[in-house]
Amino acid sequence: MSVNGLPPYDTNNIFARILRGEIPCKRVLETPHALAFDDINPLAPTHVLVIPKGAYVSAADFHATATDAEIADFYRAVGQVGAPLETGGYRLLANMGHHAGQEVPHFHVHVVGGRALGPMLKTPA
Ligand code: 5GP
Repeated sequence: MSVNGLPPYDTNNIFARILRGEIPCKRVLETPHALAFDDINPLAPTHVLVIPKGAYVSAADFHATATDAEIADFYRAVGQVGAPLETGGYRLLANMGHHAGQEVPHFHVHVVGGRALGPMLKTPA
């Protein structure tokens, strides 16, 4: 389904293939509705991607169409992955669509920490 102008879900995107076990990942956490694994190109000592197991392109898609159970489970997984980083601090980030440079069209949250991360946006408006 197309949501907010984004293309429909591509069942062959990299994260769909990871979920199907076709591509390996370094698993950090698995819950009934979410999977967390290390980013292949980490930007910080900890860089984990948390993805819902369902086929959602974007935040709008996920929040509009996922069940309450999926949404609760997903955000609890995000919190669980971030918890060990709370003392030093960390960042949650989700890219959506062209302006954000979303590479993989399966909704995901980056959990990034383990060093000072600098300003949130690198380029001015
Ligand atoms: P986006 O730009 O869509 O928010 O982020 C996609 C992220 O997925 C990038 O940080 C990229 O390094 C990561 N990534 C792309 N392909 C793979 C892969 O095959 N395995 C893993 N673990 N991460 C990937």
